[in-house]
Amino acid sequence: MPVNRDTVLDWMRRFAGEMAEHRAELVRLDTAIGDGDHGTNMDRGMRKALERLDSADQADAGAVLKTVAMALVSTVGGAAGPLYGTLFLQMGGALAGRDEVDLDGYVEAWRKGLQGVQTRGKAEPGDKTMVDALVPAVDAMERAPDLDTALKEAVDAAERGTRDTIPMVARKGRASYLGERSRGHQDPGATSTYYLYRSAAEALGG
Ligand code: ADP
Ligand code: MG
Repeated sequence: MPVNRDTVLDWMRRFAGEMAEHRAELVRLDTAIGDGDHGTNMDRGMRKALERLDSADQADAGAVLKTVAMALVSTVGGAAGPLYGTLFLQMGGALAGRDEVDLDGYVEAWRKGLQGVQTRGKAEPGDKTMVDALVPAVDAMERAPDLDTALKEAVDAAERGTRDTIPMVARKGRASYLGERSRGHQDPGATSTYYLYRSAAEALGG
């Protein structure tokens, strides 16, 4: 599928569905090393985003992502809302004004989004955050020969990156207050990023 307004809209609808479906799992993960609100935060934010997407026409993929970003920033209090907001805002900026985006343009948008998350949150790989899912996924996309492969490999890389957070000690966000006790638990934000890639592969993949 081409990356355009309609497929990006479908991606965001699917991501909202994943957040509703996996809300309890994300709450459980965040209860272990945080304050237990990641699932409710993401579900509430994405519900709001869908409401806004339904109520106004979006000119292009960039506008879709900007609308979602604004909804997340204004309705999600936790750390992840503004971080996902930044991811989508930066991606949306990179895709703005384009009718259809090729693999290079799409990967560049992800790279911009990741940079935005890191500029805002200051997390590096290994800090046990969503960055641990994003970095390997964006790297995998950069090596892929076509969009379908890029999405498949990104899903696998995000899943591995998420699982790799289990033995890590958190150095950013609420989980970092636990120090050594954060070890042995999977990061909730990396987990929701894995679902973000999974929904992208479903919407944009072959
Ligand atoms: P809060 O921690 O404010 O309750 P959430 O529970 O919604 O917010 O989100 C927690 C997730 O946010 C973490 O699992 C982690 O992946 C991500 N996160 C927290 N701080 C940062 C950061 N500085 N950079 C990147 N991701 C972060
Ligand atoms: Mg939380």
